Amino acid sequence: MSDQSKIPQATAKRLPLYYRFLNNLHIQGKLRVSSKELSDAVKVDSATIRRDFSYFGALGKKGYGYNVEYLLGFFRKTLDQDENTPVVLIGVGNLGTAFLNYNFTKNNNTKIEIAFDADKSKVGTEIADIPIHHIDDLEEKIGKVKVAILTVPVSEAQNITERLISSGVTAILNFTPARITVPEGVRVHHIDLAVELQSLVYFMKHYPLENEEQ
Ligand code: ATP
Repeated sequence: MSDQSKIPQATAKRLPLYYRFLNNLHIQGKLRVSSKELSDAVKVDSATIRRDFSYFGALGKKGYGYNVEYLLGFFRKTLDQDENTPVVLIGVGNLGTAFLNYNFTKNNNTKIEIAFDADKSKVGTEIADIPIHHIDDLEEKIGKVKVAILTVPVSEAQNITERLISSGVTAILNFTPARITVPEGVRVHHIDLAVELQSLVYFMKHYPLENEEQ
């Protein structure tokens, strides 16, 4: 992201959420949106939305709301949507294959451009036009890619992480349950789908929502 030194991290994390919703509104031809509409759609309370948007220099007008075009322009710049961000994926198993097919293209310019796997039967093939190379060739083929998605078995995660970092990767989306160790300056976001699902079920059972029928 470009100049966002004055945007708090919590606000920055909500940016993609706002961006996706506003982009849909824009496609539908809507010119403005109220904080109430936004709040209902992205499930963030309107006071938080107003505070977030004030960091972007977007001050909603009473009875008018926010200018969709202005906000989108700001988000594009801030999220570097005008620039392509290439991503590498390591581990073309079930989850990795799904990501290659999905490839995040609908909402932004962050795209998986290259994949690696250790399985010889996968190497040399392509999924959704993305070439799969052998993991042995990582250092040679990775190029200037800075962002990696990790979908390898847990036992491989740390070793692959170290190789990725030596090759210049500075951001890792880790889908393995491994708590990988990285040096300062490398950012890891950890998504353990099994834990997320378990936690959702736990909350559903133990903290029913007020308006939910028991
Ligand atoms: P599958 O059904 O294809 O095995 P999975 O997601 O259940 O998928 P995992 O054992 O988690 O399988 O492995 C994910 C992928 O990571 C597999 O395609 C596997 O070949 C690959 N893989 C295993 N070790 C490495 C490694 N060291 N480097 C790169 N890829 C690896």
